[in-house]
Amino acid sequence: MSDFFKLTISELRSYIDRGEISPVDLIKSVYERIDAVEETINAYVTLTKDHAFKKAEQAETRLKDGAKEKLLGIPIAIKDNMCTEGIKTSCSSKILKDFIPPYESTVTKKLNEQGYLLTGKTNLDEFAMGSSTENSAFGHTKNPWDTTAIPGGSSGGSAAAVSADECIAAIGSDTGGSIRQPAAFCGVVGMKPTYGRVSRYGLVAFASSFDQIGPITKNVKDSAILMNIISGNDPFDSTSAPVPVPDFTTVLGQDIKGMKIGIPKEYFIRGIEKDVEASVKEALKKLESLGAVPVEISLPHTDYAVAAYYILATSEASSNLARYDGVKYGARTEGKDLLEMYMKTRANGFGPEVKRRIILGTYSLSSGYYDAYYRKAQQVRTLIKQDFENAFKSVDAIVTPTSPTQAFKIGEKTEDPLQMYLTDILTISVNLAGLPGISVPCGLTSQGLPVGLQIIAKHFDEETLFRIAYAYEQDTDWHKRKPEL
Ligand code: GLN
Repeated sequence: MSDFFKLTISELRSYIDRGEISPVDLIKSVYERIDAVEETINAYVTLTKDHAFKKAEQAETRLKDGAKEKLLGIPIAIKDNMCTEGIKTSCSSKILKDFIPPYESTVTKKLNEQGYLLTGKTNLDEFAMGSSTENSAFGHTKNPWDTTAIPGGSSGGSAAAVSADECIAAIGSDTGGSIRQPAAFCGVVGMKPTYGRVSRYGLVAFASSFDQIGPITKNVKDSAILMNIISGNDPFDSTSAPVPVPDFTTVLGQDIKGMKIGIPKEYFIRGIEKDVEASVKEALKKLESLGAVPVEISLPHTDYAVAAYYILATSEASSNLARYDGVKYGARTEGKDLLEMYMKTRANGFGPEVKRRIILGTYSLSSGYYDAYYRKAQQVRTLIKQDFENAFKSVDAIVTPTSPTQAFKIGEKTEDPLQMYLTDILTISVNLAGLPGISVPCGLTSQGLPVGLQIIAKHFDEETLFRIAYAYEQDTDWHKRKPEL
């Protein structure tokens, strides 16, 4: 078996363009890898092998014709909450288990225009609600570094697929940490763009004022390459911002001398694991040795972030998920009348976590409780946003651990939703404030599990993230470590 599957987008681009690797040989290699490890990892809900091979053959012809698309022949996996025309999009939910979208999401359309090969649709927590990918209706995904551990979530399938080399790169979505946290747990790079940077058209809505699509990759350069392709204003998404998209690769290689890096004291909390803290402190020293200037900062409302998020995100979810009624989309369970049909469809179609959130969100939005919960949480959201605005008056970026812990064991937190919610404590504020954040590998714990370093920047300043992340990555080799599978 050739090991082309181990390569990155940028490496493959030059091999393919020089005629040293053909798209068909590449997709064969990736599929041999999938055949070897997928049974253990379960990263995918749907594999699109025939589609991928057909696209690879087309790519060969196009290459001969001199085509120059940036992803021509590159195998990429997509989280199964993004619509792909004619290809099942389940959201890892029974209610959408046979749903075949009649249209393409803007992000996958843009990837298509650049000639990518879809390897398949990856597993997630049902409707992206979760932190471990254990809430999927189609089985758990395992962490490639330790198959008794979770891969993180909700984009656990995408992160595990990249980490296990079952694709060259993947796309995930992040509402409260779902790109960064699984990337951290699986030892890969996960980027959550500024809210509005990437179109959400065709992304199945969970919490619309938080959701953002972003890349999960083997290194920072690939992340920048994919961001160049998927970013931009879209007439089909009125929340996508009409701001210019820079070429994110141009900042790679610029030094970080004199850059001020904020270290929020509230993020080095009591619950943080020793090995995680040690790796992140080591990474901070590395950044300092590269010329960055550490500055202690405070984000005083951090303590309220998880509570505010779980009111707001569930409220939005309760409204967004009203559309699954057995009429417009997906599965239906018949009943004796319309009301009973609705009730049975939703009772059978949704899993327990989704139901819990619909109930919680409906409660917070109901008159009488709205002022006490929803409104209050919106006010807290503003305070959290202001915390960041104040901090960014004196620093260029903020650096924290991505998660307070390493990947936990399968089943460890499923009985206690609150424990599960607390795993997002270090990523959630970024979504409340709509900021960009990236997680890059920065160490391994004594149990051999990856640790992620989170870098946060100002709105629409992804360039600073990439600049710092790349400088750090060039000087370390954590991103090159691979799980033994
Ligand atoms: N874990 C968080 C939640 O369950 C975030 C999920 C996400 O980012 N999609 O809501």
